[in-house]
Order: sequence, then C-alpha cells, then structure tokens
Amino acid sequence: MTEPEQANHAHAFLLPDQLDALIERLREQGYRTVGPRVVDGAIVYRDVERADELPHGYIDTQDGGRYRLVRDEDAGAFDHVVGPDSLKRFVFPSCDTVLRADLQDGSWTMTPAGLPDEPVAVIGVRGCDLQALAVTDRVFLEGPYVDPLYEARRRNMFLVAVNCRRAAATCFCHSMNTGPAAGGGFDLALSELADGFVVESGSAAGDELIATAGWPAPDTARLEQARAQTAQLEAEMHARDGVVRDDGAMSRQRSLDTEGIHDLLLGRLSHARWEDIGDRCLACSNCTMVCPTCFCSSVEEVSDLAGEHVTRERSWASCFTAEHSYMNSGTVRKSIASRYRQWLTHKLASWHDQFGMSGCTGCGRCITWCPVGIDLTEEVAAIRD
Ligand code: SF4
Ligand code: SF4
Repeated sequence: MTEPEQANHAHAFLLPDQLDALIERLREQGYRTVGPRVVDGAIVYRDVERADELPHGYIDTQDGGRYRLVRDEDAGAFDHVVGPDSLKRFVFPSCDTVLRADLQDGSWTMTPAGLPDEPVAVIGVRGCDLQALAVTDRVFLEGPYVDPLYEARRRNMFLVAVNCRRAAATCFCHSMNTGPAAGGGFDLALSELADGFVVESGSAAGDELIATAGWPAPDTARLEQARAQTAQLEAEMHARDGVVRDDGAMSRQRSLDTEGIHDLLLGRLSHARWEDIGDRCLACSNCTMVCPTCFCSSVEEVSDLAGEHVTRERSWASCFTAEHSYMNSGTVRKSIASRYRQWLTHKLASWHDQFGMSGCTGCGRCITWCPVGIDLTEEVAAIRD
C-alpha cells in the first residue's frame, strides 16, 4: 500500500522495450501484475505478463452512451483513457464471501472468510482513479468501521500510474482537480514519451524498485517534456470546454461547474429537471456499477440443497433499484426520478457532509456507459440554470 507522500522520490527513464523489465521486477517481487488489455471491444484490466499485451496502437472514443476502440498507429501503450473497469474491482470485488456457516453434529460453526493475501500490482492507473481510491479509503478504512477485506487487499497493492496525454470527451477530471496528471497515491507514475517512459516514484516501495533495477535517471529535457505534455493536455481540456471537436466522433469536452454545488443541488430538490431525467433513466444501475466510488452492497445467505453449508455473500447493490430503499413500510424512493436525485445529490453534495470530499472524480464512466446517454454534467448545468 502506498505510503504518505515524501519529498525527493526517485526518477528513472525506461526505453519502450524496458516496460517488460518493469513487469518482470513486479512479478519477481511476488505481485500478480494486471494492466489494460483489449477484451471484447473495450479496454479492461486483466492479467498482464508482457508489455506487448498492453493496448499499443488503440485509442477509445467516448460520448454519452457510446464507447468505441479505434486503431491509431501513432498511439502508445497508454493513449486510451478509462474503460468500464476501475480499481474498485481489486479492493471491493463485485461479489465477496464474508462468512461461512457449517452444520456439524446438530450445531452451526461460523467461520469468517479468510483475509485475501495476494499482492496485486495494477499498471496504468489514472489520476481520477487514484482519487477514487482515496474516496473508497475514506469510506472503508478511515471511518468508525474498518472493512477487513478491503484493508487486506488495499495493503497488498502496488500502483503504477500513468499521466494522461490524451482525454476522452467524457473526462472532466480538470473540473474536479483529479487529473489529467496523477496527483499522488501511486508507487510509480509513468509519462509516455515518443522514445520511452519517464518514471517517477511516489513511495518508498517505488524508490526501492527503481534503485534495485538500476535504471538511469531521465535527463532534464525528458523530465520537462513529461511535465509539459500533461500540463498542455490540462490547458487544452479547459480551453475546449463545450467546444465541438472531431476525434473520430463529434463530441464536446465535458466540464462541471462545482461552484456552490452542495447548496445548489440540495436547494433545488423540487426542480422540474429531476422528473425530466426520471422519464429518460431506465434505472438499469449501469452508472453505479461502473462508478469507481459507488460502494453500496447487499448481503445474502446462500445455502446448499441439504441446508448444511451456508455462505454469506456480499455483492454490489445500486440505489437505482426499488429494493435499495425498501423498509418495513415499503419502498421509500418509489420513482426513478427520486432515485437519480438521491444518487446525484449524494455524489456531489451530501458526500461532502458525510466524508468531507466529493464522491465524483470526473472519470466520466457514468456518462459513457449509460445506455441512454444521461450526462451528469449536463443535468447539473440544467439544474443550475
Ligand atoms: S459519478 Fe460518474 S464521473 Fe463521477 S466518479 Fe462516478 S462514474 Fe465517474
Ligand atoms: S442514469 Fe443511465 S446508467 Fe444510470 S440507471 Fe439511469 S439509465 Fe441506467
């Protein structure tokens, strides 16, 4: 697990073919290595053993309800942006066994699930997703109750971040101050250049890996180029807010005006726009499944046919379902409009009251993977107007 920021961490420079050496080093240290791979037309996290398994030569075009991979011979290993997967699946999987109960000689024995102990190194993590991990850390580790399964997985992670040099039209990390540079919380951060990778360490574990690998330090020009290309992307994202552009699909760069957003949303709970969204929303819960910070779950007990062995399973749940707000008097949030309002006001307003930070990192996944293209940046703008 990444330690708090320290000054003067190590830097290194890797030639393109030395990405394999990075993966090998991590595997030698006992990590399962996962990274972005092309699977079924999307870029998702899967096991990676060699650098040529990374999505070299692919970019993604994204828009409301739309995701396409496009071949681009100039694209490097990390010129795609975020896909439907996030770090959530590694710290809070979609289904987890939390307890087993076994009937023996007429009495039940309860056995809590063993703590996961597989070290996992995730390669290709973006700034918005590092922030999402900070959000879920706040929920699972820093409140009055610590989740032991989350804690065990989180402690065993090594994070190799990437500073983005390209953004999707759905990205609004620049509005949320979470990207496009990896702001912190990583062990190593890569900046992909035309002739290799500038590597920056962000932890003692990252320092140690660089020191033992013996990679050379980058020269000043490459360090400067790495910083400049992310800064340039951020400036471009600000500059093209709302401007139609063509990157294979006509679209516009999203942004979110967060000024006074807490009071704005909570002060307009009767705005007509909520009903308008309710007419379009399918309550399919896709947005909550792909969101890297949505953390609701439900627990059910699953028995074998003989009724002698029972497992207690925790699985992802969504505030878009009717049963999520079911109480003894019935479902509290009966309309889809009220469920969307609950989700959005929690993300952007009451999350601040509950956890002292925003629940949204600007990753844009909920826009891309919404089948009807509902776009929270557009909805907030409409409510603001
Ligand atoms: S609410 Fe949407 S944009 Fe914000 S973190 Fe979740 S998926 Fe990303
Ligand atoms: S906002 Fe979109 S993704 Fe979310 S529940 Fe409604 S239809 Fe599904």
